[in-house]
Amino acid sequence: MKESSEYLDKNFKITPNFQRFNQKNDIFNRAMWDDLIDPKTFFISYDITNYKPKKSKGFDHWDYALRNASWHMTDVVGEMKFETEGRVEGFTDYYTIQTQGPPSKAPELPIEETTRRIKKVATALGAGMVGICALDRRWVYTHHFNRKDQSSPKLDLPASLKYVIVLIMPMDYDLSKTIPSALGGSTTGLGYATSLNTANALAQFITNLGYEAIASLNDTALNIPMAIEAGLGEYGRNGLLITPKYGPNVRIAKVMTDLPLFADQPIEFGVKEFCTTCRKCSDACPAKAIADDAPQSEPPNYSSLSHITKWTVNAEKCFKFWVGMNSDCSICIRVCPYNKDYSKWWNRLGVRLANSPLRRFMLWLDGLLEYGKRHTAQWWWQRP
Ligand code: SF4
Ligand code: SF4
Repeated sequence: MKESSEYLDKNFKITPNFQRFNQKNDIFNRAMWDDLIDPKTFFISYDITNYKPKKSKGFDHWDYALRNASWHMTDVVGEMKFETEGRVEGFTDYYTIQTQGPPSKAPELPIEETTRRIKKVATALGAGMVGICALDRRWVYTHHFNRKDQSSPKLDLPASLKYVIVLIMPMDYDLSKTIPSALGGSTTGLGYATSLNTANALAQFITNLGYEAIASLNDTALNIPMAIEAGLGEYGRNGLLITPKYGPNVRIAKVMTDLPLFADQPIEFGVKEFCTTCRKCSDACPAKAIADDAPQSEPPNYSSLSHITKWTVNAEKCFKFWVGMNSDCSICIRVCPYNKDYSKWWNRLGVRLANSPLRRFMLWLDGLLEYGKRHTAQWWWQRP
């Protein structure tokens, strides 16, 4: 299996000056050390004992109660080693909750059969889509960030890890319609909760087979390039992975392993062409954080990669809007014409139209039928 991807090199024009990302510069970590990024009460709002919800619908006590509950398991598990080691597993550090594996490996199977079983198990454990790629070290962060002592230690990942199982975790479609709101933020929290469970259970399964496996969410390495490489979707103007099964309304988790597996191939289903025509996300973004021009090789600030040509969201502007609202935003998910309920055949047909000369018609139809319209929190609470 090749360790670096010709597909990504070619489609994103990665130059020889490309450098790996230091997670210290991630916007959430910058909020801990960079005076330019003031989180105000954004993080405090995730602790309802110290935060007074607003009176407005979508941001009231019931809404924050649900949003914070949706994050509860991810926070509790992820911060088990915060006081002792400063780890925030799932965000700045990979998980270390697996119990030890057996002294000997499970009987070896042909790689095709091992790959099939891994995908079957990942699906049974809750993944909506599963893909496999080689571990391309360009996407691995150079350094962690320790939110307790603000240090930034070098990230050392065992050299034996050669494969990545990328997991697509669908988020709640109805809740996504109420974005932006604290209630709508529950869809993100729920996505992380299912990611936590599926990635760690899959890592434990592989450990139980006698191989190494590390479960990871946003920590350790960039998920989107790996998901593209693993054939799970294409990159959108909104800076997100767009999958053929759930659009952009997903979270991505991964398990890195030494278990030999077959890699998938990148896919194309017309997203790049569609995004070139459509600007629903950049038009709707209240922070004007999404570029409405062509992909660029230089990012708006150092919270994003450089020497790679792509649409890049201005993380500083985006986060400022989140801070003002005391919840995450994701309007760019709600309004995206790929954000649909794909259990309905007509929505699956829409994706086909988006990948055809009728893409402008699909875009017009999407607007006419008011697909990306915001729904109120009351609408969600009152739904049967
Ligand atoms: S999350 Fe909201 S503020 Fe950030 S880029 Fe998307 S629409 Fe803009
Ligand atoms: S809203 Fe339109 S331009 Fe933005 S990511 Fe979705 S399809 Fe692409």
